[in-house]
Amino acid sequence: MIVHLNKNITKEKAQQLAEKYQSTLFENGKFVLVTPSKVKAAEGELKELAEAVFVTDSDIQLAGKEYISTRREVKIGDITIGGNSKNTLAIAGPCSVESEEQIEAAAKFLVELGVKALRAGAFKPRTSPYTFQGLGLAGLKLLDKMRGKYGLQIVTEVRDSTHADEVIEYADVIQVGAKSMYDHGILHKCGKTKKPVLLKRGFGTTLQEFVQAAEFILSGGNPNVILCERGIRTFETKTRFTLDLCGATWLKENTNLPIILDPSHAIGYAFGVPDLARACIALGTDGVLIETHPNPKEAKSDASQQLNFDEFRKLYSSMKKVAEAVDYKIV
Ligand code: PEP
Ligand code: MN
Repeated sequence: MIVHLNKNITKEKAQQLAEKYQSTLFENGKFVLVTPSKVKAAEGELKELAEAVFVTDSDIQLAGKEYISTRREVKIGDITIGGNSKNTLAIAGPCSVESEEQIEAAAKFLVELGVKALRAGAFKPRTSPYTFQGLGLAGLKLLDKMRGKYGLQIVTEVRDSTHADEVIEYADVIQVGAKSMYDHGILHKCGKTKKPVLLKRGFGTTLQEFVQAAEFILSGGNPNVILCERGIRTFETKTRFTLDLCGATWLKENTNLPIILDPSHAIGYAFGVPDLARACIALGTDGVLIETHPNPKEAKSDASQQLNFDEFRKLYSSMKKVAEAVDYKIV
């Protein structure tokens, strides 16, 4: 159950109530209490001091449709996704920032095409310790330079909580990777900022667990959470992961959060990315995340799945048509 407390309640009183009713407390214009979901009615003092009460079905509470029946609006610079916008945000760029030349080639190419959000990791969560781990802070500074020079919104990932503050400072959208979805240090820090957070689904997690991870950020006080389906592990080995499009429609139906789909990491091979990206857009989604690199063969991470610029250009033009067919617009 979610309880909006009366506006004139002091912080001390709100904290007292949170303790008494074993609730999570955050402030976002007003104090909000989230009780365990088995509590189905506000009683006694809580009833008297409540301005609004929302009874929820499960521990999908702040992200649930019982709380907010429409899709939340999230602003990324002057771009809006969710709400009534019917915008599909194209987020594109290489897997990692590798050098100034490489990231600038990508930034220049994308901005000329009309793409507004550049993605690239500076802190890479790699499977092997013997591969490129990212440029770290130097990579964030290069992304900052690209934002200044090309006016792009920067989407970049946080690998662990030791550098979370730096990523939060430099990013316009903080990406939490699939392998970090359960990192409570990161989730906690993401709840303490108001910057948009793109939370990727862990590849071995259920939809319930995925949305519960989002609840940690929401109940920390950050309402700007975007869910990202990026493929789950199944018995199939011919593709890297299996993009759970069924799951995406479930999230659309049952949560109030914007949803972004990532065909690149799901399939893991460039050959299938264009078809899969168009399928994602045909779903009517709030965004797609696609990896593209000036020279994919030489990429220091995720080389097999990144599109070259010609492939991306062709895909981008067809994306607009598919979006239009489902009454959405690529932004
Ligand atoms: C990425 O976006 O480059 C990435 C590492 O993604 P994921 O966390 O989904 O594997
Ligand atoms: Mn990648």
